[in-house]
Amino acid sequence: MYIDPHVHMVSRTTDDYQRMALAGCVAITEPAFWAGYDRSSPQGFHDYFSVLTETEPKRAAQYGIAHHTWLCINPKEAEDPVFAREVLEIIPEFLKCESVLGIGEIGLNKNSRNELEIFEAHLQLAADHDQMVLVHTPHLEDKRKGTRLIMDAIKNHGVLDPNRVLIDHVEEHTVREVLDRGYWAGLTLYPDTKCTPQRAADIFEMHGTDRLWINSAGDWGPSDPLAVPKCRDEMRRRGHLEATIRKVSFDNPLEFLSQTGKFRTDVQPTR
Ligand SMILES: [Zn+2]
Repeated sequence: MYIDPHVHMVSRTTDDYQRMALAGCVAITEPAFWAGYDRSSPQGFHDYFSVLTETEPKRAAQYGIAHHTWLCINPKEAEDPVFAREVLEIIPEFLKCESVLGIGEIGLNKNSRNELEIFEAHLQLAADHDQMVLVHTPHLEDKRKGTRLIMDAIKNHGVLDPNRVLIDHVEEHTVREVLDRGYWAGLTLYPDTKCTPQRAADIFEMHGTDRLWINSAGDWGPSDPLAVPKCRDEMRRRGHLEATIRKVSFDNPLEFLSQTGKFRTDVQPTR
């Protein structure tokens, strides 16, 4: 059994749900993200949040996968703060849904001032509604700088407990600092960029497995919804203990996500 705690199933086919279930996936969490195009109105986000809370859980349940989600306006579409705040106003009505785990994936894309303003507005939303947070960190050369800006903003905000925040897409040069500052951290397994299964296994060998999880972040771009079982396979090939493999792909996500009181792994196939 495994959990894929970060995968964008709105961009994947129903066949992918079936393949993931056959590979042992019992639960997923799907953060709101940039869907490949900019939405032209706040209503577009309302529709998207309805898909994430109604359509996708039904599609996943066909194959016995428990589907959960995190809601936000992603940093790419948050460059217009007035527009972004209108979207933020929609979110509270969805926080009551049984499958909504918190606010995410919020963060920074280009580390801009507007992005930071809306990031902080999301932190306040999480604090006001006692929600957990899933954070996206920028890619490539901006990653270390963006990751530090994000952690400083959370610290300065002062209300959120780092133990209830996961910083995702960490790499070799950011993982240590994220863990040392008390956060949970996610390794995103992409075929080329971010972390390959091999690099993730290297990171576990160097930094241990406490407060770390792996995810596929499968989306509309080049990505692999079976990346988590492939990483488990790579760890097995290297002789890691089954308990270690289970820890990063099941026990750790279960422990972090169970803090929401809403996370489940026990859906019976409905098809
Ligand atoms: Zn994502």
